[in-house]
Amino acid sequence: MQELIAGIHKFRSEEFGQYKALFQRLAEEGQNPHTLFITCSDSRVLAELITQSKPGDLFVVKNVGNIVPPSTATGSTNSTAAAIEFAVEVLGVQDVVVCGHSQCGAMKALVTTPDLSSMPHLEGWLSLATPVRDAVLLRYSHLTDLDQQVTAAAEENVLFGLESLKTYPAVRRRIEEGTLRLHAWFFKIATAELFAYEPTTHKFVPLVGPKQLRFDFGHKPE
Ligand SMILES: [Zn+2]
Repeated sequence: MQELIAGIHKFRSEEFGQYKALFQRLAEEGQNPHTLFITCSDSRVLAELITQSKPGDLFVVKNVGNIVPPSTATGSTNSTAAAIEFAVEVLGVQDVVVCGHSQCGAMKALVTTPDLSSMPHLEGWLSLATPVRDAVLLRYSHLTDLDQQVTAAAEENVLFGLESLKTYPAVRRRIEEGTLRLHAWFFKIATAELFAYEPTTHKFVPLVGPKQLRFDFGHKPE
């Protein structure tokens, strides 16, 4: 906790000056984020840091394993679903990123199926991604290395996330209007590299420049 308090003081005394006008404007005018960014609760994945975003840029959802529940899921899945509806319907974000990452504990649990009976909420949450485990078993059974299996699960999981997003009426409507794009990303922790799924080649490729924005699922073909 001391680290947090010290950080708050440091931010107030050293960093806040450069953000003061921005925070003031955001308070007066409200937020208008361009992107809904769904990523893992993992402490090593910092959406704003790795995309160099400012306050007001990203509407961020962090949950265990960056799982996107289908719109039909109920119960403890509601907070992510609520954030999706609000960002797409009310805030009018133009992009939705589902960003998985390497060495993901949730994906490892999905692959190794440890006993989670003492954590029923976690067990229930991960069960939403059962189709991801099925896909890994079906397509990646040749992978013997656990790290590679976890990476495969993380990649399948963000693609599953995009499919789940499309089950939300608001998302479907915005895609049909041509005003919303969906992106599946993968963050490699050790090198801080970002990869984006390229639908035409079915591969995750390094995200290197703005032209990469064409790798989206949302916009209708022109
Ligand atoms: Zn994770």
